[in-house]
Amino acid sequence: MLTVHPIKAFSDNYIWCIENPATRQCVVVDPGDAKPVVKYMQDNHLTLHSILVTHHHYDHTDGIDPLLKEAAKTATSAIDVYGPANSKISQINNPLTQGDEISIFNTQFRVSEVPGHTLDHISFFSPSDPQHKSPWLFCGDTLFSSGCGRLFEGSPKQMLTSLKALAKHPTDTKVYCTHEYTLANLAFSEAVAPHNQKIKDYAQSCQKKRVNGLPTLPTSIQTELEINPFLRCDKAEIKESVSRHSNLEMLSELEVFTALRSWKDSF
Ligand SMILES: [Zn+2]
Repeated sequence: MLTVHPIKAFSDNYIWCIENPATRQCVVVDPGDAKPVVKYMQDNHLTLHSILVTHHHYDHTDGIDPLLKEAAKTATSAIDVYGPANSKISQINNPLTQGDEISIFNTQFRVSEVPGHTLDHISFFSPSDPQHKSPWLFCGDTLFSSGCGRLFEGSPKQMLTSLKALAKHPTDTKVYCTHEYTLANLAFSEAVAPHNQKIKDYAQSCQKKRVNGLPTLPTSIQTELEINPFLRCDKAEIKESVSRHSNLEMLSELEVFTALRSWKDSF
């Protein structure tokens, strides 16, 4: 069975490490910093098999070069670096576009283009298989628990389309976001939907995890459909709240999403 482990980096990043216990190899996702990854691999007797990259931001890519240099000391073949084809990330040797499928450790990963946070953003989805029961989604900075990434490059329309595509994955999909933003996001979600008991309950369970030094991630698609306002812009609860806050009559889901995203930017 493959496992996924979070490696903490910077103040609130997680570099997800997919481990193959049979071969003691691992895949790292969005290595923004090599140091904690090298330490984790040494401590757990792992060698680097490949790297997945979701988008070009430094806190997802700056560790690639040092990791490749480190691996070159012992690796017998080049390390595969999978990432978006329409990106300036020079280390990518396996460029990917919408619908591409790759196989790592005999496990399939499907690629979706999810622009919005950046224009080069992709996600990796691995359907349920004998090596891991729940499906996996590595979504970078597009979907966060109870939130979504800021719109640095894309339009609200692009981001909403991307989020809706991610939300269509099976409800039991484990969602591996790359930042521990959950509690701050939940504070915003409670302000937007103060009568939503599911948000309150989830906030309590996440607070307990943080007090005990545990990540709140992975989350699941089911949880996010219930507590993430950015996936609920078609619901009356969110529509009415955003209309009140912006003093505007909200008609379309896109209008609600756009106003909600700018409300969060100044929250
Ligand atoms: Zn980013």
